[in-house]
Amino acid sequence: MIQLYDATLRDGMQGAAMSLSAAEKVRVAHKLDELGIHLVEAGFPASNPKELELFDLLAAERFENAQIAAFGMTRRRGVQADEDVALRVLADCFAPVCTLVGKTWSLHLEKVVKVSPEENLDMIGSSIAFLVAQGKRVIYDAEHFFDGWRADSGYALDCLRAAADAGAETVVLCDTNGSSLPTQVGEATRAVVAELSDRCRIGIHPHDDAGCGVANALAAVDAGALQVQGTTNGVGERTGNANLTTIIANLALKMGHEVLSYEQLAKLTETAHFLDELLNRAPDPRQPYVGKFAFAHKGGLHVAGVREDASTFEHVDPAMVGNQRDLLISELSGRGTVTEKAAAASIGLDEAGAARLTERVKELEHAGYHYEAADGSFELLMRKEAGEYEPLFRLESWRCIVEKRADGKVETEATIKIWVNGERYVRTAEGNGPVHALDRALRDAIGEIHPHLKDIELVNFKVRILDETKGTDAVTRVLLDASDGLASWGSIGVSENIIAASWEALVDSLEYAEQPARTRV
Ligand SMILES: [Zn+2]
Repeated sequence: MIQLYDATLRDGMQGAAMSLSAAEKVRVAHKLDELGIHLVEAGFPASNPKELELFDLLAAERFENAQIAAFGMTRRRGVQADEDVALRVLADCFAPVCTLVGKTWSLHLEKVVKVSPEENLDMIGSSIAFLVAQGKRVIYDAEHFFDGWRADSGYALDCLRAAADAGAETVVLCDTNGSSLPTQVGEATRAVVAELSDRCRIGIHPHDDAGCGVANALAAVDAGALQVQGTTNGVGERTGNANLTTIIANLALKMGHEVLSYEQLAKLTETAHFLDELLNRAPDPRQPYVGKFAFAHKGGLHVAGVREDASTFEHVDPAMVGNQRDLLISELSGRGTVTEKAAAASIGLDEAGAARLTERVKELEHAGYHYEAADGSFELLMRKEAGEYEPLFRLESWRCIVEKRADGKVETEATIKIWVNGERYVRTAEGNGPVHALDRALRDAIGEIHPHLKDIELVNFKVRILDETKGTDAVTRVLLDASDGLASWGSIGVSENIIAASWEALVDSLEYAEQPARTRV
């Protein structure tokens, strides 16, 4: 069986403008787990406080399908493996799997690390042996393998042998600079499989610099590789890693590999969009399988043909990957999906309610809402439709004053007037900005009745302008992530006014936190 290894949270984050908080990374890990990914590369537990926080959070999570892999390097030169600080951190980390990257290309040994070929082999072997002795399953990522193979295939193979001898369960052939072509990858992989596949699993880790990331992954699988490393939507440095989203669909639907169940595969589009929303970037409409245009038909002949028999113009059934024909709205628009989500949140939404909500979501999405990453707001929508919604308060008004002073200081003050349980609350607060001030005033007012709200932290605030051509008239979408330390959720607000959009998202995030079904647990 082929193992799917998602490197989004580590390798993928090296890309330009890629940034996720630790709490967001946990959400991504869960989403990948739901999809059925086997191994999730979380990061480098020693590299900075944010990564350490991530590993602390992940240690407390439960995953159904995925195992967490911690990433690190072979020991430093001239240091014993068991005295290498970074390897010790890996050994002490909760993750059952450790992925170690090491050198394979003689050119790098000469020019970059200045280590003799013999010492490099020992660095690989002793590092892996140390972690195996500590009870870890070890994956060895052979950096620049294909360049190394072209320069000196004997030595490149020696590096893999050193890893296998030391107990690595998988050795991964990395096309680190993305320079290789499918025929080269196929040939080299076939040779490695012939040498080593009786002792360990062979994996592939391509990058997309030559536009061959997906093709190279498939060529390696064809040649016997049993682990594929890539990133969701192909995020990553330069032109990106191999796009695991596309690879999964190809493996399952074109090559007959049972990498995921049908139910899991149908979550592919949702998973891909979820990551884009968290990264605050618009999903690529032309992305294979999951893009909005992937199964969109124009031209009369096409539409007639599709109506007659979809296979005349569609290479696969879009439903298999959770996408839709002529997709004008997000995948949440499917009535079945709505019913499923309601059931998952224990909301009693009947068929008619699901149908009404489906229509409502279409309208909202047309206005600029998007619910892939705003699960909190979507749950509130379902509750409203099912009559299971309790508003936190009734708004009379709010206002914000932002004042720029001669000394350069900017002061913000917000006043809110709300009604809770028949009583009127008027509160004023200052803040670093209008949203902060509104948040403080609102929590001050309702915090007395809902003390739990004091523990809610707003961990992320993202703003996107939806129609950039309109300039300051454009519609603004605000995504807010909130957390109570146990769970985190997203909420959304859309308005031509950025503060109004923020207020909407803010209220949703607090209301979600106080819904009866949540506070019971
Ligand atoms: Zn890489």
